[in-house]
Amino acid sequence: MRLQGKKIAVVGGGPGGLTLAKLLQLKGADVTVYERDVNKDVRQQGATLDLHEESGLEALRRADLMEEFKNNFRPNAGRLRVLDDQAIIRMDDHKIQHGYREERPEIDRAPLRDILISSLNEETIVWDSQFIAMEKQDYGWILYFNNGKSFYADIVVAADGANSKIRSYITDIQAVYSGITIIEGNIYNAEKNAPKLWEITNGGKVFAFGNEQSIILSAKGEGSLSFYTGCKVSENWVQDSGIDFNDKQQVFEWFKVAFSPWSEQWQELFSTNEIWCIPRPQYHFPLDQTWPTLPNLTMLGDAAHRMPPYAGEGVNQAMQDAFELAENLTNDNFLDIQTAIAHYEEKMQARSAVVTGDTLKNTEIFHGENGLIKLLHMFK
Ligand SMILES: Cc1cc2nc3c(=O)[nH]c(=O)nc-3n(C[C@H](O)[C@H](O)[C@H](O)COP(=O)(O)OP(=O)(O)OC[C@H]3O[C@@H](n4cnc5c(N)ncnc54)[C@H](O)[C@@H]3O)c2cc1C
Repeated sequence: MRLQGKKIAVVGGGPGGLTLAKLLQLKGADVTVYERDVNKDVRQQGATLDLHEESGLEALRRADLMEEFKNNFRPNAGRLRVLDDQAIIRMDDHKIQHGYREERPEIDRAPLRDILISSLNEETIVWDSQFIAMEKQDYGWILYFNNGKSFYADIVVAADGANSKIRSYITDIQAVYSGITIIEGNIYNAEKNAPKLWEITNGGKVFAFGNEQSIILSAKGEGSLSFYTGCKVSENWVQDSGIDFNDKQQVFEWFKVAFSPWSEQWQELFSTNEIWCIPRPQYHFPLDQTWPTLPNLTMLGDAAHRMPPYAGEGVNQAMQDAFELAENLTNDNFLDIQTAIAHYEEKMQARSAVVTGDTLKNTEIFHGENGLIKLLHMFK
């Protein structure tokens, strides 16, 4: 194997980085994951994830983790209700008694992460390691972290998410603002703190549209309600709005005005203090992005192809990147590591261009005129 005797650094322990580490380790590679979270118990935010057959599930199959997945997935969490802005149900998967098929089974982000972490050899992950810079040394790279430590690696894979610090060592292609900014949030103990929204979500998902805005809800297994609002605002709205997003009351005041055409029921989203929230302007990379392949540095997941969340593809794409890259690095089909990476990057760029295109179409439909009607039509 070409990786014999080589040290591989994966920066970022999200679904993409952890899947890659697992698959490389299965082939006997020497891999270390550097993750900025202080330890594995840091609370995981984010919606329940549906894993797709050919990508997320295929990655788990190759990692020999399907049994663990089956023990942790959430049957029926994919059941969807589509609502209008007056909270009237316009489409309801919960009504389907027989013949409901969950083609894309759902798992919460925390158990998915736990499954991957506990499948790795001990000491694979170096926690509390926020990457800040790197420079060339001998054949490889020396990586610097904000805890003052540095490590050498022969091969580096950037899996450090949408705001990747490593991407700029590979390409200077910048992300493009999609026109939509979301406020992502999580309401803890939602049965008590947002009872009406918890009830209407009914253990599954809610998509709601009106006034060229969206609200997506997702009930999580541990009793919290994950959500994100979507609004058309300018790229710098987060700073220009003057809202202190750490101040729940200020966010609530903004919501009441911005979503004033929506019925009062939705105000439960921000009327509790038992909430975490963060604004996230949504960016994507140009669909035709390419870059010259480097000998021993590449990227995967959001670092390579961030996109808005309106096709539910981000985690799936990251996990597919991971198994395609692991395969190329560990089989003997390529002349050298650079050729293996080049082949991976070419396929990944083409695949993610299609998915980004689809995601942008959904983003536009969901936040355009008659978004609700168009979505209902799509589901028919
Ligand atoms: C609101 C919302 C809803 C979403 N819903 C879905 C969905 O339903 N389905 C779906 O498939 N996708 C969804 N996504 C997208 C999905 O979350 C991402 O595409 C996916 O997590 C990307 O995986 P990743 O491993 O590339 O990056 P991440 O999951 O972002 O992981 C990156 C990791 O790197 C670490 N890190 C970051 N910077 C550094 C650094 N400097 N040094 C060291 N470590 C670092 C982070 O702590 C993190 O652990 C959603 C995204 C959002 C924002």
